[in-house]
Amino acid sequence: MEVKFLGVRGSTATPGNEFSKFGGNTSCTEVNHKEFQVILDAGTGFKDVQLRKDVPVIVLFSHFHFDHIQGLPFCRDLLSPDTPIYFSSALVSKDELRDILGSCFSPHYFPIELVENLTHIKYLEFSEAAKIINSSCEITSIQLRHPGGASGYKFENNSGKFCYLLDHEYDDETASELLSSSKDSDLIIWDGMFTSDELSMRKGWGHSSIEQGNDFLDNTGAQKLGICHHSPYRDDKAMMILERDINNKRLFLAREGQIIKI
Ligand SMILES: [Zn+2]
Ligand SMILES: [Zn+2]
Repeated sequence: MEVKFLGVRGSTATPGNEFSKFGGNTSCTEVNHKEFQVILDAGTGFKDVQLRKDVPVIVLFSHFHFDHIQGLPFCRDLLSPDTPIYFSSALVSKDELRDILGSCFSPHYFPIELVENLTHIKYLEFSEAAKIINSSCEITSIQLRHPGGASGYKFENNSGKFCYLLDHEYDDETASELLSSSKDSDLIIWDGMFTSDELSMRKGWGHSSIEQGNDFLDNTGAQKLGICHHSPYRDDKAMMILERDINNKRLFLAREGQIIKI
């Protein structure tokens, strides 16, 4: 398995030179395997995904806040009518998923009726989507704490284990379940929107801190933890300082274009 970061910014895209090292696109992560391609969320980073034609392609949504769906209509490959593509989310049923995307991409907010135009896209229950790649990898969902709800995902096969935990406000209530799901992962993607100082003023906003990620990494015994959903107010310089000060070789602040092999 190979995990590629296509969008690592949280909340809103951040163009500009001061964000160019880490990247300004919002949430999108690609999971590639010789038997499948899964795209986790379709923030503005989704524009540059190259959808494969040799394997099933599943776009899997954690939830539907703008920063996780905004890039959806802008991926050229998505318009190719000869490519079967599946959309799914563990957060909602396939009918709800179609309705949500249909209303987000309709003329009040977007010039065309996206769902009605992309007739080659098939909507699946999460259990159906998981079955498609079942022989090469087991995918399970993880309930996350976020306003409106969010689903994390765990990928596990012979080569390793990878957990995607966006967006999530870490707390004592959910800690034990999350720790046991993520135990001994090869890679965890963590919602590090805030520092611990920032978080103290933003309880209930649905995000965690970089420092909580560092503790979580040690408590799970994972190999690596990538901080993602970077604050749109944090420029490259501030990010480099944070990464240096955390001083944990197994923790990194994810950069757009970065690839981790599992
Ligand atoms: Zn988000
Ligand atoms: Zn969110």
